[in-house]
Amino acid sequence: MTRRITVLGATGSIGQNTIDLIRRAPQDYDVVALTGAGNIAQLARDAIDLRADVAVTAQDDRLDDLRTALAGSGVEAAAGAQAICDAASRPADWTMSAIVGAAGLAPGLAALAHSTTLALANKESLVCAGQLMLNTARAHGTQILPVDSEHSAIFQSLIGEDIAAVERIIITASGGAFREWPLEKLSEATLGQASSHPNWDMGQRITIDSASMFNKAMEIIETHEFFDVSPDQIEVLVHPQSMIHALVGFNDGALMAHVGPPDMRHAIGFALHYPERRHLPVERLDLAAIGQFEFRAPDAARWPALRLARDTMAAGGMMGAVFNAAKETALDGFIAGQLRFTQMSDVVADTLDHMNASDGHIGATMTLDNVMQVDHLAREAAKAAIHKRAG
Ligand code: NAD
Ligand code: MG
Repeated sequence: MTRRITVLGATGSIGQNTIDLIRRAPQDYDVVALTGAGNIAQLARDAIDLRADVAVTAQDDRLDDLRTALAGSGVEAAAGAQAICDAASRPADWTMSAIVGAAGLAPGLAALAHSTTLALANKESLVCAGQLMLNTARAHGTQILPVDSEHSAIFQSLIGEDIAAVERIIITASGGAFREWPLEKLSEATLGQASSHPNWDMGQRITIDSASMFNKAMEIIETHEFFDVSPDQIEVLVHPQSMIHALVGFNDGALMAHVGPPDMRHAIGFALHYPERRHLPVERLDLAAIGQFEFRAPDAARWPALRLARDTMAAGGMMGAVFNAAKETALDGFIAGQLRFTQMSDVVADTLDHMNASDGHIGATMTLDNVMQVDHLAREAAKAAIHKRAG
């Protein structure tokens, strides 16, 4: 029996890894929709090759280009943010949510209402609107499977276990590009240096977020939202080899570790085949050759993002949407050369303070409209904080 599959963010790093797995057994899948943004040639090539019903670009002004690239193929073309939500609303058995940023929230919610399973790589949607995502899934009986490597590892370690017996969850962090840098040099880190990851091959934004630890900060919140464990049960451990992805500690003292090569096709493939396990084309680790695993505690001075995540969870309400929007805006500022690497956390801290102090937005009901309103206000506040620093 074929399964109807949609890939949101098909042209990105996670999207391409997903397509790689689909391509290995195309007869098993009936591709409904693929979405992308600026990379029209790739989007069209994959949509034709996989015989998708529709291909959608996020960019309104690229519709003609997409139409031209798809001409004669029988694949429908569409463009714009609404068209992505419409594509996510076409019935599917399995949808991969792999758009980067808060732009993935509305399509993710649409998919939760129309897909049997949502494979969730877009951690931003859980950070921005965890309760809304989980409630929507519950209302439609939709299964969410985490695709972030740490969260897939936690999920796998919890199979057959009772969450009430969990004492703590440890997520590992490679430490990113600047793990070994002298602290005083960090403020001089360039975009090029921040954009290369020692272990993982990922999109540029998440790679920079790994260097700043904002990625891990997001993942602490993601763990709190998805597994419903309290913030003080979640620990971060620096593990430069990126082979242990997470550990779950139980009330009898046992620690279950998930070990595997740093290859996202494991977590994607696990979510694609769950509850079965199937052969996946990832490296098999030779532990004797590796010899030892290395661990250390995260350095709070090097990575202030970790504390900001804790502040965000303590504030609760829609502060997650503020945190994410501030982080995205600060990252834009760093990429554009308006901020130094170390100033990104200052901008996020300022934005959290500003939004915390400014009336009832944070405590409003969590609807998509309210989240997007908070997202907008937080981006404005973050831009003002960037401006203050640049000027
Ligand atoms: P990427 O930048 O490589 O790809 C992003 C995708 O989103 C592309 O298809 C792009 O066209 C699309 N996109 C960008 N802006 C958009 C917009 N405004 N509207 C609609 N689509 C848009 O990113 P990635 O590394 O594949 O990451 C995707 C998501 O998965 C992120 O949430 C990231 O945090 C998460 N994730 C990635 C990895 C990884 O290994 N790359 C690991 C864990 C989690
Ligand atoms: Mg991760």
